[in-house]
Amino acid sequence: MQSDALNISINDVTKKYGDFFALKDVSLEVKSGEFLTLLGPSGSGKTTLLMVLAGFTRPDYGSVKFGNKEVVTTPPHLRDIGMVFQNYALFPHMNVEQNIGYPQKLRGKSKSEIKESVSEALSIVKLDGLGHRGVGELSGGQKQRVALARAIVFKPQILLMDEPLSALDKKLREEMQIELRQLHDSLTMTTVYVTHDQTEAMTMGDKIAVMNQGKILQNGTPNEIYSKPRSKFVGSFIGSPSMNFIPIDSAIEKGATSIFIDGNEFNIPEQHEGTIADKNFIGIRPEKMTLSENQGISGEVYASEYLGTRNVLTINTEVGQFKVRVSKDIKVSPLENVKISFDSHSGIIFDGTSDKALQSAYM
Ligand code: ATP
Repeated sequence: MQSDALNISINDVTKKYGDFFALKDVSLEVKSGEFLTLLGPSGSGKTTLLMVLAGFTRPDYGSVKFGNKEVVTTPPHLRDIGMVFQNYALFPHMNVEQNIGYPQKLRGKSKSEIKESVSEALSIVKLDGLGHRGVGELSGGQKQRVALARAIVFKPQILLMDEPLSALDKKLREEMQIELRQLHDSLTMTTVYVTHDQTEAMTMGDKIAVMNQGKILQNGTPNEIYSKPRSKFVGSFIGSPSMNFIPIDSAIEKGATSIFIDGNEFNIPEQHEGTIADKNFIGIRPEKMTLSENQGISGEVYASEYLGTRNVLTINTEVGQFKVRVSKDIKVSPLENVKISFDSHSGIIFDGTSDKALQSAYM
């Protein structure tokens, strides 16, 4: 089953509910054949943006193009996109085959065409032989496979998914993540996938668009988002344990190349292209910090979590609480005094006011 993928261009899309901006000037390009995850906290606008793409929500302003075609006023049933929702949304009075064949029936396909495409879709989602089952006789994973088969049975060029795996247990979710990704690759569709789970976004997406408060804060590969976050929000939202932030606003002088923290000199890292200007925090990932014998920021161990292959230490210092990821062989106990060191080249400069600046953009 092959289909041509279409690129998606979203330009300056705004959606207001009363005075509230659910989406504010959102622009985003999804390349043909790309798997893009929309990631953000609850209420950040992910579902609203997906509904704008599907045509169920009409934006107040802005443009949505599939390929070269403007679709912002096109009703959902004429957009020819596949959709999968969190709650499956299967028709309870139809069996598996009838559910999957429904979009083909709506398109006026003949009985033999429907039969053939349903059988192909069943095989793709690995449900051969279950076509005559009632949907009430399926497990959660099987139901989601039926929903997926129904979304792809008419070979859409665009597939939209809204937290499709969140009702499944962890093991099944991880298996389905791999299957969904393989399915996307084999069908060469353009996929937009909503999730609030950063691990899911990192493992599945070619690109991640991080949203907060109705805006896209950054769109990049998982590696770019992790290693070069453009704002403190993105730096703290991605990565577990979360990135550490060292405040440097009072310590820094214009043009300075290094700063002193607790009597230790640290080079100020270079600002990545696109990172919001001003220099109020250095962000350091927990795995880039180490415990050192003599020099470093003094701290007291608050907690030590053993995670099998590594330890995560929570350490209180005079410049804040830090998470430090160390080897499982390093044993330290709560209340122990330690010194923390880091290679400042692995750090990122952030503007502490950037999140406020983003908020003021909503006024
Ligand atoms: P979640 O992960 O919790 O599903 P989300 O990122 O998908 O969140 P949206 O559902 O897009 O968020 O909602 C974005 C904001 O718009 C929320 O504050 C929500 O309350 C608001 N909103 C969404 N739909 C409506 C509506 N029909 N009327 C009023 N406000 C709405």
